[in-house]
Amino acid sequence: MKIAIDAGHGLYTAGKRCSKQFDENETREWTLNSRVATKVCQILNNIGVETIRLDDTTGETDIPLNTRTKNANNSNADLVVSIHHNAGGGTGIETYVYNNACLNGETGKIAKAINDKVVEKTDMKNRGIKIGDFAIIRDTKMKACLIECGFMDNEKDTPLILTEEYANKVAEGIAEAICNYYSINKPIEPIPTPIEPTKVDVIYQTYTNGRWQPNVKNTEDYAGVFGLPVTGVYANLSNGNITYKVHTKGGRWLPEVTDRKDFAGILGKHIDGLMMKSNNGTVRYRVHILGKNWLPWVTGYNEKDYNNGYAGIIGQVIDAIQIEIV
Ligand SMILES: [Zn+2]
Repeated sequence: MKIAIDAGHGLYTAGKRCSKQFDENETREWTLNSRVATKVCQILNNIGVETIRLDDTTGETDIPLNTRTKNANNSNADLVVSIHHNAGGGTGIETYVYNNACLNGETGKIAKAINDKVVEKTDMKNRGIKIGDFAIIRDTKMKACLIECGFMDNEKDTPLILTEEYANKVAEGIAEAICNYYSINKPIEPIPTPIEPTKVDVIYQTYTNGRWQPNVKNTEDYAGVFGLPVTGVYANLSNGNITYKVHTKGGRWLPEVTDRKDFAGILGKHIDGLMMKSNNGTVRYRVHILGKNWLPWVTGYNEKDYNNGYAGIIGQVIDAIQIEIV
């Protein structure tokens, strides 16, 4: 049992791309085809089905069609599925087989199974099974079909086909249909859609000049007043916890505090060191030395590491701080 998967074209094939009107990056068709192809192979390999790719998986070359069909024939694959994205006006999904004989035989059956399963998964318009004189389905000796997975020049289709989630659905549809057709009764693991990391904000303020100064967020501003010593620090995250402590000038590192359960510092005592850590992302922070300049950003949390373990120079008063989560 072997399935040959073909991502149509190559990265640099002229003209094959999303229209700028709907995709300012003008994503190349091969990129979309290959993303689906890779996922199909991944799903099939996971359940022990062997796959080969007929295109150049780096996209660098648009392997000639006669090379692709020769490789498919030499591989003795059971099935060729060529993956494309459409253009020319229209919406939805369609799948091609070479001729009427194919359409009415086993090729037509599997083409329909693939087409309809992908339509079911994606909820796209079903444009049906069509006949097309394409080399990849004409010159391959095994069953072969070519699926067009949505339009690169359609206001509804294009934003969809660009998404990872859509590619997952298409790939799952193709793989599931292949398994159904060949009675492979292994559960197909859905491809998890990567969760976009949510941006974590840090909100913080200093005690300067006898009062708590206004809160600032991330690096939109700095907390403190240039020329006036900081003697207390308060900070919290929009999501997660931040732990921090300060060093008092001529004194010591004070106990660490978390979020706004307490503030760091002794009001009225100048600080010359700041250390911060977070349980949600890396804290990147820096301090401004009174009468001087900003020191480099640091990310560590270690009293002994004066390079990256804390922000500040022991003995030099801090008058402003900046914090962000990266
Ligand atoms: Zn194409």
